[in-house]
Amino acid sequence: MTDFKDFADVCKRIEHTSGSLDMTDIVSEMFHSVSAEELPVVAHFVMGDVFPAWSTEQLGVGPSLLYTALSRSSGLPLKEIETLVRNTGDIGETAIAALKKETRNQATFSAFMDETPSLSIMEVFERFNNISGTTGKGSQTTKIKNLQYLFNSATPEEARYLARLAIEDLRIGVGEGIVRDAIAKAFGVPAGDVERGFMLTNDLGLVAVAAKEGGVEAVSQLGMELNRPIKMMLAQVTPTIETAINDLGVVAVEWKFDGARVQIHKDGDNINIFSRRLENVTGSLPDIVQAVKDHVKADTAILEGEAVAVDEHGNPRAFQDILKRFRRKYDVETTVREIPLTLNLFDLLYLNDEVLIDMPLTDRRDALVDCVENTNGIRVDEQVLTKDPEKVNEIYSAALAAGHEGVMIKNPEAPYSPGKRGKNWLKKKPIMETLDLVVVGAEWGYGRRANLIGSYALACFDPDTGDFLPIGKVATGFSDEQLAELTDLLSDLIVVESGRDIELKPEVVFEVAFEEIQKSTNYESGYALRFPRLVNIRDDKSPEEAETLERIESIYLSQRS
Ligand code: ATP
Repeated sequence: MTDFKDFADVCKRIEHTSGSLDMTDIVSEMFHSVSAEELPVVAHFVMGDVFPAWSTEQLGVGPSLLYTALSRSSGLPLKEIETLVRNTGDIGETAIAALKKETRNQATFSAFMDETPSLSIMEVFERFNNISGTTGKGSQTTKIKNLQYLFNSATPEEARYLARLAIEDLRIGVGEGIVRDAIAKAFGVPAGDVERGFMLTNDLGLVAVAAKEGGVEAVSQLGMELNRPIKMMLAQVTPTIETAINDLGVVAVEWKFDGARVQIHKDGDNINIFSRRLENVTGSLPDIVQAVKDHVKADTAILEGEAVAVDEHGNPRAFQDILKRFRRKYDVETTVREIPLTLNLFDLLYLNDEVLIDMPLTDRRDALVDCVENTNGIRVDEQVLTKDPEKVNEIYSAALAAGHEGVMIKNPEAPYSPGKRGKNWLKKKPIMETLDLVVVGAEWGYGRRANLIGSYALACFDPDTGDFLPIGKVATGFSDEQLAELTDLLSDLIVVESGRDIELKPEVVFEVAFEEIQKSTNYESGYALRFPRLVNIRDDKSPEEAETLERIESIYLSQRS
């Protein structure tokens, strides 16, 4: 049994290390030293996660619940915890300061005062499991009690990382890239194989265990499984239709539908639908579940498509409407009536217990066409094979005229590459370049808007470290309704408030338009945006899918040339 103290020590060492190679070494040593049972737990913990992203288990502890637990554990009033958060700027330091105050008044034994570790990694995981498993009436109390137990058994160093882990924001700079390399290093498996295993399983914990127990062979045998989503294949922008044809020769052209991506797992009559963020959204989409049951003729299948919100003429509605459908958790039937969906299927990754991702697109598509009965609510739309730019242009114009985004230009010979944004899928759309950025902070408004969160601090993503690097603020482009909706959404994510300034847990992604990217010393990313304005709230994207610093740099350079 490894002590949680050992994990806390590793976090502390990493926090005092700057190079990603050194960080990888420390993480890899830890992976090597823990048992097979502990390995998946630490693989997720070290990235600040408790469960894999796709899992139906979610911790569901927000900053305010954590503050209550700290208040109960320390005996300090909630207000004082909030003051500590403001003063220290960090929930970990807050936990230490609050618990210190309590133990000063106690003569009894305390892990905190004696610094005697008593928590094991597995015990912490078990407590988090209890927290995620509790629902309904009384669930808040159960959650708080489990957190109290952990804080009351923790040494100061443990408390720091427990508090951050409880809101899944560890802030030690370890992201998927470092964990992937650490698995490779710890168990002598090439990083490429670790990466492939990750793309297929979406779970670095699982990959780590395979690597430990069976080396490269076990990792290369990891495969897709029904009801566990696989990372989605993504598209690159093509500057012109001609360039795409020059690159690919004969191309497969489809409309780029204006909706939200879904990956559907059909296991008999058991249907699971995953969003682009790989979250299970089945409960919000009963109409799609029914359409798949009725019109997909296969025992088992994994299908991909775009769910489009349509008006009474079948034309696409605003992107926000489809997100309303995905978000809705209660009274779903009403939104189903108000915002009907059409599902446009475009790929088939698995059929009747056979994995299809290594087959060429044309073969996957033939199988897709064969197993779907086209109706109003579910269909496989046309795909045209051509090398004539004029023909592609015609399809492009038709897609735009129908209110969709443009065209997808695909390599007909290419396999499905999970999680890859490569040349085999190209997209052409007329819209100006926009950026998807993560909201990491905000400000309360003035006057009439004093109760609304109004100005939003945006950041790009560094995939190696998992850090979000600020790049600017956006305060225009919002309707009053949107501001109210956002205030609701973001209130649960507030980490620290100081005057009108708010620090937020990175969770929500904004799509913003801008005039220009400039170099700037005002923001940590080294860049700033000129005239940013909101285009969309991208609930379908996770913060890790926001623009990377590398892409910001490349747009900056392309502007200059
Ligand atoms: P965008 O904002 O342009 O949708 P993105 O980053 O969300 O970009 P991309 O990978 O760049 O996603 O573009 C592919 C997306 O286009 C898919 O995720 C899917 O949601 C959507 N799409 C619509 N029609 C198709 C289609 N026929 N084939 C593949 N993807 C399609």
